[in-house]
Amino acid sequence: MKRISLYVHIPFCKKKCLYCDFVSFDNSDEDIEPYFSALFEEIKAYKTILNADYIIDTIYIGGGTPNYVEVRYIEELMSVIFNTFDVDTDAEISMEANPCGHVNAEDFERYKKCGINRLSIGLQSASDDMLKQIGRQHTKAEFDEAFKNARSAGFDNINVDIIFGFYNQDVLEFENTVQYIIDKGCEHISCYSLKLEEETPLYDLYMDEGIDIESEDFEDRMMYHTACEMLKENGYVQYELSNCAKKGFECRHNLNYWDIKEYIGLGLAAHSYKDKARFFNTSFMDEYLEDIETNGSAIEDIEQLDKDKQEEEFIIMALRKTEGVRFEEYKKRFGQEFIEKYNNETQYLTEAGLAAVTKKSIYLTDEGKDFANIAMMEFISN
Ligand code: SF4
Repeated sequence: MKRISLYVHIPFCKKKCLYCDFVSFDNSDEDIEPYFSALFEEIKAYKTILNADYIIDTIYIGGGTPNYVEVRYIEELMSVIFNTFDVDTDAEISMEANPCGHVNAEDFERYKKCGINRLSIGLQSASDDMLKQIGRQHTKAEFDEAFKNARSAGFDNINVDIIFGFYNQDVLEFENTVQYIIDKGCEHISCYSLKLEEETPLYDLYMDEGIDIESEDFEDRMMYHTACEMLKENGYVQYELSNCAKKGFECRHNLNYWDIKEYIGLGLAAHSYKDKARFFNTSFMDEYLEDIETNGSAIEDIEQLDKDKQEEEFIIMALRKTEGVRFEEYKKRFGQEFIEKYNNETQYLTEAGLAAVTKKSIYLTDEGKDFANIAMMEFISN
């Protein structure tokens, strides 16, 4: 049996955060019921495609805020998935949750009971001022309560998301956030640098005010390395540019993305990778509902990857991981020696101090992590 992952997108939130450019909606509660009906139809339509050969390795319910909708929707979602696919008994099943959604002890017990065994809770900052400034719909105290309830419901594999690089955010404030989640003892921490996207309210707000929202690069990088250092000192292993985990708690689902393994994305704007093709669903709610009703599928576009593109993606994704590109894996996939093909690029990156090479792999150095995009670009023109 081949292994595959599922991503399920739940595009509803209490209120849009000011920096958010994800496909998610507030004030759209009337779409929740039809959306889930369509989602269940889409899942069932994959039955014949996946059932014969595939076992589900990981499931990730993301958003949006999946715990914004009533818990019964998530229970039914899990039941439809279990009734449709062959899900491994050992599958990692994650759900994103925000402290402004359903987070009391009983809610978490129901999530656990329907099969979810990993949570990813969005904190972003342990400063109430900062949370307010970026339009989050919760306080630190509400996160605290949600985390406590999740633990008491038996969740022993919890990720916490934090962001850094906001205007006004000083290193000390960020250190306090990192220390706060270390003290919480969560198993996994995702630590992202703010990417200010155009057409978000925060972008407009700061442009209007003439403020350079993103901290100076120097401070941004200082926060990044401070977090990495603090997490390392406290027993977390950095296994990807933005992700650290206690040993054995690395996110299997995300590792499958970075290892270029197959996955199916279900729901609005969800992306998939299967049979060396990337395809994605429409991002428009009306179109999604109509397409599913008519065809059982809302795929908007498919890109079949040629060998060069496959290779490029493999190298770029591998460089995101701390272990980098493993030469043996590269040869297994592409039938040639990495160093022979990429001798010039390897030499350039190592001489620039951006990458290091061992007998088995090439990986980004600490400095290389600061210039990851530049380092990765080296492999794009080939
Ligand atoms: S909770 Fe997440 S998806 Fe929802 S608006 Fe905020 S950042 Fe966007």
